[in-house]
Amino acid sequence: MTRLIIMGPAGSGKGTQSSIISQNYGIPAISTGNLLRERITVGDELANEISTFISKGLLVPKDIMTEILYNRLMKEDCKKGFILDGFPRDVEQAIDLEGFLNRYNLDIDGVLVLKIPYDIVIKRTSGRFECKKCKKIYNKFFNSTKIEGVCDICGSTEFSIRKDDSDESAIRKRLDIYEKMSNTIIDHYNKKNLIYIIDALKSIEDISHDINNIIVENINKK
Ligand code: AMP
Repeated sequence: MTRLIIMGPAGSGKGTQSSIISQNYGIPAISTGNLLRERITVGDELANEISTFISKGLLVPKDIMTEILYNRLMKEDCKKGFILDGFPRDVEQAIDLEGFLNRYNLDIDGVLVLKIPYDIVIKRTSGRFECKKCKKIYNKFFNSTKIEGVCDICGSTEFSIRKDDSDESAIRKRLDIYEKMSNTIIDHYNKKNLIYIIDALKSIEDISHDINNIIVENINKK
């Protein structure tokens, strides 16, 4: 059983690495950003409220966030474990999650922290675009489609850019929030010996290799 959290600023490769871990270990990768964006497609009042916070780069209020997340964690596919991307964003959320898991005698097994300089992150985030059909993520600076305008995976020619990725001030605000919050969260999990620091400047394959080693050698042996 593997219940993991992956942390790092937006653009550090969390999404990519969590989907690799998800495939390797047969556990769902749950991104709270994606959960919220899915919820927005419902188009009701709550969707509008969520959308306002996200487009400004602000955190969605805790009660809204935890209700959506815990509903997801109660699903059958989370029984074997999960990898959580985007949560907790502060210590209050971390403690809330512990309370939720403890009710079922469960706990977090490890927290993977992706470290990367912020100027690289800004370039990565502002270049990001996604295939509308299969959701494959590309980057116009580092990792574009092989044929311009055609998805490598499904051949679709329709792409989208996340609203909050196209606005540099929103990107900077997200980095600011991350900087302030991440240190306190890391301190919190450090006291529980759960923190594993990962060099996220390496290639996707090397980062994935490092993470695998940590899971096999440390987290799963606890
Ligand atoms: P992300 O995809 O993780 O970059 O998240 C995109 C946006 O969703 C954030 O800027 C927040 O507005 C919102 N969000 C994601 N996760 C959380 C969370 N754990 N708590 C509050 N808001 C969140």
